[in-house]
Amino acid sequence: MHLRINGSRVTRAALPVGWHVVAAASILAVAALTVGLSACSDTSRASDAEPLCIDGALPIGERTPLIDAVCADPPSALSAAAEQQQRANADAAAASAAELQRRDAITIVTCGTGTPIPSDRVQACTAVFVNGLFLLFDAGDGAQRSMERSLLPITEIDAVFLTHFHSDHIADVGEVISRSWILGRTAELPVYGGEAVQRVVDGFNAVYALDDKYRETHHGEDILNSRVEPAVPHTIDDPGAEGRVVFERDGVRVTAFRVNHPPIEPALGYRIDYAGKSVVISGDTTDTASLRGMSEGADVLVSEVMSRDVLEAVECALKRLDDPRNARLIRDIRTYHIGTTELAGLAQNARVRTLVLTHQVPSFDNDDPRVELLLAAPIRAIYSGELVAAQDGQRIVVELE
Ligand SMILES: [Zn+2]
Ligand SMILES: [Zn+2]
Repeated sequence: MHLRINGSRVTRAALPVGWHVVAAASILAVAALTVGLSACSDTSRASDAEPLCIDGALPIGERTPLIDAVCADPPSALSAAAEQQQRANADAAAASAAELQRRDAITIVTCGTGTPIPSDRVQACTAVFVNGLFLLFDAGDGAQRSMERSLLPITEIDAVFLTHFHSDHIADVGEVISRSWILGRTAELPVYGGEAVQRVVDGFNAVYALDDKYRETHHGEDILNSRVEPAVPHTIDDPGAEGRVVFERDGVRVTAFRVNHPPIEPALGYRIDYAGKSVVISGDTTDTASLRGMSEGADVLVSEVMSRDVLEAVECALKRLDDPRNARLIRDIRTYHIGTTELAGLAQNARVRTLVLTHQVPSFDNDDPRVELLLAAPIRAIYSGELVAAQDGQRIVVELE
């Protein structure tokens, strides 16, 4: 059966529900502009012999008839282009997943290195791929789109860990839950966090409940079962400064520990251990004994960082500009983050092999040279290990012996 819209025959490709559909759809949309739609000449019902002509508004609540696309053989130029694009996207996704899921390395992807301070950086997001597991730490604004751009296998996220509930660490949690499901996640998605994680996750689940039902009703529960979508909260009881193992699978151990980010209680950091290698996620914190201890001998410390010099300069500038409100906000920020000098000393004393700067305060754009000048250089002056002033989407690979 054919579907004719305004007199033009349209082949609706039977595309799988997947992230690559977006790319194909844009090609189809652009191509459609060149087709040149003619006026509808036939308003009769569809039949095998005569395509359905839809010419005019549908009553509210009535769907366009559900008809499979007629796939010509050989395919139309448009469909052939779509096939090529689909194949290229699938190949790229498979290659990316294979690289990330290597069993002989741990790969860290800095999917978001920004903060609430406006810049082109995505907010907090760090993905760790270890022994076939995909562990996500925080999901601030833009995290989901950043992960899709970086071709992370988001339908296979094994667990999300939240450091604390500031918006720049959780704003995209709902999208991570929803998109991973829409794109094909069929397993439960656990979300770990401190005491209020149940409230936060229940909130996102409630917000997306209508969307879940819409999609299930539209596409069918065999493809999108709304029971799979909601995330499952896992409360981490106070792990103290000494930390406690909160996740253990296939030889991978995740330890949560308290960090210092007052007045936020609790604020957590995480340490991932596997095959004698370790990756530490600082969360938001000042210099504090727990982070020092947990970073001891770490292969990678993914840490937040702040330039006190810049913030003090901005605060003074705002005062001169008679903007006491913003001057105070900037002053307050200085009280609960770790400065470049303190971080450099911590990493040096803890013998951290690679220090990755994320959650950069202030957040300059990804390729702004001031990152090197104002954040990295002061650290290099003290810390002798490898320093990565991370950009969004950067991959750091730890080879296993
Ligand atoms: Zn915070
Ligand atoms: Zn933050």
